[in-house]
Amino acid sequence: MNKSVIIIGAGLGGLATALRLSYKGYQVTLVEKESTPGGRLNVLKKDGFTFDTGPSFFSMGYEFKELFQSIGEPIPFELNELDPLYTVNIAGSDRVFKIYKDLAKLAEEFRGLEDNFEAKAKKYLVGAKEIFHDTEYRIIKKNFNSILHFLASMATVPVKHLPKMFRTFWEELERHFDSEEVKIIFSLVAFFLGATPFNTPSVYNLLNYTELQHDGYWNVKGGMYKIVDGILGLLEKKGVTLILNTEIVSVEHNNGKMTAATSSTGQRFEADLFVVNADAAWFRGKFLKRSKYTPEKLDKLEWTLAPFTIYLGVKGKIDGIQHHNYFLGNNFRAYADTIFRSSVAPEKPYYYVNVASKSNPECAPEGCENLFILCPVPDLRVKPDWSDADKLVNEIVEDLGSRVGYDIKNNILTQVVYTPKEWEKMFNLYRGSGLGLAHGLNQIGAFRPSNKDEKLNNLYYVGASTTPGTGLPIVVIGSKLITERIENEHSAI
Ligand SMILES: Cc1cc2nc3c(=O)[nH]c(=O)nc-3n(C[C@H](O)[C@H](O)[C@H](O)COP(=O)(O)OP(=O)(O)OC[C@H]3O[C@@H](n4cnc5c(N)ncnc54)[C@H](O)[C@@H]3O)c2cc1C
Repeated sequence: MNKSVIIIGAGLGGLATALRLSYKGYQVTLVEKESTPGGRLNVLKKDGFTFDTGPSFFSMGYEFKELFQSIGEPIPFELNELDPLYTVNIAGSDRVFKIYKDLAKLAEEFRGLEDNFEAKAKKYLVGAKEIFHDTEYRIIKKNFNSILHFLASMATVPVKHLPKMFRTFWEELERHFDSEEVKIIFSLVAFFLGATPFNTPSVYNLLNYTELQHDGYWNVKGGMYKIVDGILGLLEKKGVTLILNTEIVSVEHNNGKMTAATSSTGQRFEADLFVVNADAAWFRGKFLKRSKYTPEKLDKLEWTLAPFTIYLGVKGKIDGIQHHNYFLGNNFRAYADTIFRSSVAPEKPYYYVNVASKSNPECAPEGCENLFILCPVPDLRVKPDWSDADKLVNEIVEDLGSRVGYDIKNNILTQVVYTPKEWEKMFNLYRGSGLGLAHGLNQIGAFRPSNKDEKLNNLYYVGASTTPGTGLPIVVIGSKLITERIENEHSAI
């Protein structure tokens, strides 16, 4: 009999791992607490509207291509490259910046704000490109067995990048650009890492290279959930069992091996190997009682912001908005300084709006738009009470309506809101943190919870809070890394 694998959680990490392992001959069962697979990459259908609930685009689209190539299957969904990548609206300015990969076109967007933009951007991106390619295989796409192993790998990164460890993301931008608008727009990616551009190391400017030059941004024709549908079709072909509505609440282990996982209804799952797709830090504390991951210690770690998400079905077509849009205020530094620490909902919130119906008309009834609004907010350590959620919803809906010149408020046909509390409950996201553990230099590589358990020889982890980190393509890379580990340590037969 081929080896059996139980995967706890059917988020993208669990699904991609199930795909790779099942094609290599392992007998895979996925156990998911929710009623639909996909985790944060999920779908919400209501009153004729379809919303992607979480991710709406991604960089490094080639990682998805690699996933399907590695199992010898054609990619089961259609990738769309974003052009422009997104738009940015800054309060008080009547300009809407369209962010293009084509630097000549992008220079036009910054005309009158940044002289010689194109030449400056090219120079800036050379440094960002070098650091990306110098770390991709040494740090990101690599398994580490110890801190020493990690540090040895770090030591092979060319020393010319060393000063970037000591500068911030913002300081790097200041070395290249004068315009506040350019610096603000180029620093937005820092927030995804779990910090602000004012305290994120400048090495992460490499993300602007991945966005603006390397591979751009992608989404999926028909909506992001087509990724999950596509993977599910292939898993079915391979006989993978998917068990939904089943939450694992305890585990058993013996002699350095995990032996079983048990659900809240008492269902017991035994297997040769286990993969945890739930948060890798939280799981170790909650179920394995590891002293390094008690709630007190987890609370001391750096976590990414929590999502406050609004899904609106709106009557009418809104011309003043594109598919991917950021709406920012005019107090960037002050906002960045308080957003991780404030126990009250942001007064003049910064938010992202995705209107999938702009590119996928089937996501909304005719003559309507589906709006997905994401406002990053402090996690539940800082703001545990969301009884004031309606106030934030109203503030955003009013602000958005006035900025796009459309009476959204009085044309809402359907509305759903998830506060960080719902996000925490749905997917066991620690303190509601949306992207999991942050990516400061002390929480990456061997300093991040490992994808191989420290004590149990047949237990592995995949997903946002283990290595290499968060975001769809990075989680897909994570599934490749643990598949390599599992194959090396426990062959399928
Ligand atoms: C609002 C939002 C927007 C985002 N936007 C983007 C974006 O545009 N681009 C991008 O690249 N990334 C984005 N991300 C990040 C991206 O969604 C994540 O990095 C990625 O989906 C994480 O996948 P995962 O498999 O690690 O975890 P998850 O998706 O959280 O999957 C884990 C699964 O495990 C299940 N589970 C947990 N505990 C148990 C248990 N005890 N028993 C059984 N099942 C359990 C959960 O229910 C869940 O289904 C976004 C995230 C959020 C929240």
